Amino acid sequence: MYRLGYLEGRLKGYDREEDMLKLAGKKEEPKPKPKIDDEKRQKYSSNNLVQLARMTGKYAGIENMRKRRLLKEPEGFFLDDEQNQLTCSICGEHYYGSEMWWNLDGTRCKDCLRNIKQGVIPSLKPRYDDKSNWFESWQIKSNHGVHPSSVRKLVREGLLHSRDLKRKDGNVYYTVYLVSENQEFLKKYPKNKSDIKMTIADKDGKSIEL
Ligand SMILES: [Zn+2]
Repeated sequence: MYRLGYLEGRLKGYDREEDMLKLAGKKEEPKPKPKIDDEKRQKYSSNNLVQLARMTGKYAGIENMRKRRLLKEPEGFFLDDEQNQLTCSICGEHYYGSEMWWNLDGTRCKDCLRNIKQGVIPSLKPRYDDKSNWFESWQIKSNHGVHPSSVRKLVREGLLHSRDLKRKDGNVYYTVYLVSENQEFLKKYPKNKSDIKMTIADKDGKSIEL
């Protein structure tokens, strides 16, 4: 029928089953209790694996947000919205987010960032990366068996090449050694094979070597 010619009104949508049942005049039935009751929730919320899953989820969320921001700021950015102190992935010092630069290479403190920008060091991989392209002073003793007193001598002799990172005032705060320019040293003092083995227990109590 076209009697009206013009019709005005509003549409309201329902997509939940219980709303539709309500529309059809059905009485609401008491809701079943949630499967995990409060007692169980309390018991398991302190479980390490639950905590770990929660932390991993939170971390993945933060990482995704940063990656989205990187689309607009491809060079990286200071993490000014962080509440906690973070660790620099190069020198290992702790700073608040406003002094911490982030991009896909890792988290860099403002001093390490300045040293990268000034060309003192290339943009290094994070310090605990297994395939790291650099090493630091303590590793020369623990991984290559060279006593700290010999390090300076090796640098003087030109076998070991170091790069000193300086603060704004010119003080050296950290020294790194690039794998690429220390090939001769690494040949003479190869990396020790670690005797320390780490194991974890699986759910049946069997140990798994890491
Ligand atoms: Zn740093």
